[in-house]
Parts: sequence; structure tokens; C-alpha cells
Amino acid sequence: MHNNCIYLDNNATTKVDPQVVEAMLPYLTEYYGNPSSMHTFGGQVGKAVLEARKQVGALLGANESEIVFTSGGTEGDNAAIRAALLAQPDKRHIVTTQVEHPAVLTLCKQLEKQGYTVTYLSVNRQGQLDLDELEASLTGNTALVSIMYANNETGTVFPIEEIGLRVKDKGALFHVDAVQAVGKIPMNMQTSKIDILTMSGHKIHAPKGIGALYVRRGVRFRPMIIGGGQQRGRRGGTENVPGVIALGKAAELELLHLEEATAREKRMRDRLEQALLATIPDCEVNGDITQRLPNTTNIGFKYIEGEAILLMLNQKGICASSGSACSSGSLEPSHVLRAMGLPYTTLHGSIRFSLCRYTREAEIDAVIEVMPGIVERLRALSPFKSDEAGWLQEQEQVLAHR
Ligand SMILES: *Cc1c(COP(=O)(O)O)cnc(C)c1O
Repeated sequence: MHNNCIYLDNNATTKVDPQVVEAMLPYLTEYYGNPSSMHTFGGQVGKAVLEARKQVGALLGANESEIVFTSGGTEGDNAAIRAALLAQPDKRHIVTTQVEHPAVLTLCKQLEKQGYTVTYLSVNRQGQLDLDELEASLTGNTALVSIMYANNETGTVFPIEEIGLRVKDKGALFHVDAVQAVGKIPMNMQTSKIDILTMSGHKIHAPKGIGALYVRRGVRFRPMIIGGGQQRGRRGGTENVPGVIALGKAAELELLHLEEATAREKRMRDRLEQALLATIPDCEVNGDITQRLPNTTNIGFKYIEGEAILLMLNQKGICASSGSACSSGSLEPSHVLRAMGLPYTTLHGSIRFSLCRYTREAEIDAVIEVMPGIVERLRALSPFKSDEAGWLQEQEQVLAHR
């Protein structure tokens, strides 16, 4: 299987860096010892795991003892939320936002059925929170505030430290899903208000199925996965050693490249965005363009279906996304864009392009080249053309009956 596609879907997953593959391979072949074993053969694997812990800690500005390896972002979010609730059994209230990843939202929905109260903070048209609304939602009963650092669909970045100040003022635990922010925004847990942070390997050029939690020293953390005493009792189970080594290497590379790669990605992202806005009528950028990940643009093309755009891009070998990968396959509009109150006409025609340090200028050129024609062809077929009012009415009715 080979591929030479133009890959602009890096918020869904990323290519494993060849240096990461190289670093992990010996732990699939030669060094198969158990890191918890007493013998030297296992012990040297244990040392490599410790080294990886330090590398991940360095990326976050954290101590290695504060890093807990997980199977990825979803486990991290679940474990963080459950840990916070288990540690404070008398508190029954959670604050989160309407635009979180399903790893957080679906769990919160389930916790509501189990008797917890959840506040889902709303966002404005730019996808930003109202910090006064956040503050007003906090009570003595609030166990946890779980808010993402940056949104996977729009790239909108929340003012995490300002939020943290208000959260800590009220004595709640502060969990941050930083899966999209790690490696794109410099972080220093030493000066941060974050108590628990989630990251995932496959969003930063490590393989799928590995991730980490940062758990601030002193924060009471009750494990979700219970077993042997691995990872100081915070996550049972023999570590996914090749994954752990890979995550360590990926973290080292992210730190090394952060400044120069994000500047380059931002330049290319802005060029793509400006070219599309200039050449295609009736389109707009979704999200907060002043507080945004450097690699992400989400653009709404009015009157057409995002899925149709994706299919036509796909035929040209270009990979993009219409929102979260989890909800693609259905024509349900994105919960994030819906929470932002986008009009129906753009809600369905939004496309996300997400870049990485491997993105080349020529790939951006190719997208700039094909997009105007794709949008024009789809609009020519769109029933909206002949009867905008009728089309809109029909679509609103469909939505209302869902
Ligand atoms: C991808 C993603 C996750 C889930 O991570 P997995 O490692 O795929 O389980 C969680 N939160 C955000 C914001 C993400 O982008």
C-alpha cells in the first residue's frame, strides 16, 4: 500500500515520524522485557520508560513523576474525569463546554444519568466562552471543570490560564483536554493552573493507542484502571513500552520543532485561507481567528454540503475533514459549529483543513487551485440556486424533525 495523497487532516491523526518509528522498533524486537521486572533485561526497559517520561515532561514543563501513560486521548479524558470525581465523592457537579470532544461530552451525558449535574457552557459565534458565565456556574458542589485547550474542529484556543484562575479560586479541580494544543502551543505546567492535562500520541506524530496524562503533584488521583501497582498506582497494566518510547521521542521532536514548525504552518494556513476567501464567493472562516491553533482553518462554503466537497477533494487525492471524524459518515452537522450558532446555510458546508510540519507549499497550491472549481460545480447543482427561500425552509424542517 502506498500513498501520495495531500494530507490536510492532521487534527484527525498524523503521520508517525520516521525517527519515532526508529526509536520504538528495538522495543518491539530486542528489548521486550517487562519494565517492572527485577532483572537487568527488564530493568533496562524500565530505564527507557523513565527516559520517555522525562521527554514528555519536558514538552509540558512538568516533572516526570507527574506523567501517567494511557492508551490515548479518550482514555485520558475518561480517567481524568473519573479520578476527579472519585477523589471528591461528596461533590456532584461538573462544568464543561458544549464544544468538547465526544470523549468528554459522552461521558458527561452518562454521568448525568448516574446523578451528577453537568453544566455545558455555551460559546459565542466565534466559539469563545463567556468567563462570567463560567464563574457563575461554579459552586461549592463543583468537583471538576473540564475544558479543552483548543478545539479540534475550529482550532479556537480558550484562555486556559484565565479560566484556571477562576476555577482554582472556587476550589474545583481543573482538567484540560490539550490533545490538539500540545506541540502547537508552548506549555509550562510549573506556572499553570491546570491540575490534570490530557494528551494523545497520534496527534503529535506518534502511533495510535498511546497517550499521557499530566497529574499535578499533590492532586488526589484515583485510578480508573486498577491492577498491578504500575505507574505509582495511577494506571494499572504493563506499559505499552514501544508506544511509550514512541511518545517520548515524538514529544522531544515536538519541543525541538515547535517554534519554527508552527510559524511555518501558520504562514501556509493563512495563505490557503486568504486565497480561498479571495477566489470563492459566499464563504467565511469559522472560529476565533485571533485565538487559534496555527495549523487549522475551518471554512464554511454556503449553500453546499461539506461531504460533497470532501468527496470531490478525495477524487483529487486531497484529504480534509468536515468536522470530527467520529461524526462523519452521518450527515449530522457538527455539534461544535451548531453550538456556535452558525446559520443553516454554512453549517452543512464547512470544511476543516489541518496542517503539520510535513505540509509542503505545493500541496497548499494544489488545494488553492482545485477548490474554486469544486465549489462552483456543487453550487450549480444546488437546489438553493433556483429557490433559496424554499430550500432553506425545507432544510429547517428536516432539522426540526431530527
Ligand atoms: C483526537 C482527540 C481526542 C481523542 O484522542 P484519541 O487518542 O484518539 O482517543 C480527544 N480530544 C481531542 C480534542 C481530540 O482532538
